[in-house]
Amino acid sequence: MNAARRDKTLLISDLHLDPTAPAIARQFLAFLDGAARDARALYILGDLFEAWLGDDDPEPAAREVVTALRRLTTAGVPCYFMHGNRDFLVGRRFAADTGCTLLADGTVVDLHGERVLLMHGDVLCTADTHYQRLRRILRNPAVNFALRHLPLGARRGLGRKLRAGSRMHVGSTAADIMDVTPAAVIDTMRRARVRTLVHGHTHRPAIHRFELNGEPARRIVLGDWYTQGSVLEWRDDGFELRALARN
Ligand code: MN
Repeated sequence: MNAARRDKTLLISDLHLDPTAPAIARQFLAFLDGAARDARALYILGDLFEAWLGDDDPEPAAREVVTALRRLTTAGVPCYFMHGNRDFLVGRRFAADTGCTLLADGTVVDLHGERVLLMHGDVLCTADTHYQRLRRILRNPAVNFALRHLPLGARRGLGRKLRAGSRMHVGSTAADIMDVTPAAVIDTMRRARVRTLVHGHTHRPAIHRFELNGEPARRIVLGDWYTQGSVLEWRDDGFELRALARN
């Protein structure tokens, strides 16, 4: 690949890859072996997988994704992975197998000369106190360590329970409570000293423009891949939030 063609950075999230929805995986694999090959870098901002029970899970559909990511990084495209609420058990072995670099939630990166804060987005949904409480427990380092060291069968059972609980909660919680809280966005962007935030999680793709400390600011929300792809393309001269049609 001619390095001069690598003029864009790609950002995606919320594919929710799952063996029961093979069309999403097919589109993602085609994206990795196609458009992503021309990218300067690929950022995956969480919930790549509907569930990730651990890097030792031999589930074939997940292994296929790991292998495809490895092909991309071997082809010379750096790939960065941030945990979502569904795949927070992605770990060091995944990073080694794929060649991806793990990024902490809330990392500031330089995208073509601009300081951009990258997040999955769930910590910004502060009105959902039930979810935030659960998140604090699951992401507690000691709990996280214990989860990673449970036998795979036990993790499978726990994962099923968590997903059933999540479905019930989402079904009974008002839509605005599951969106980001404006005050949390402002506070987080101020502390990171950025005027641009990119996140996923809410499945509400949009570019929100507002003022922060009297200056123009923006929050770019990536879309999910349930019915089509969603990718943010960043170039030297600007960015575009695109939907990718599913063949
Ligand atoms: Mn999410």
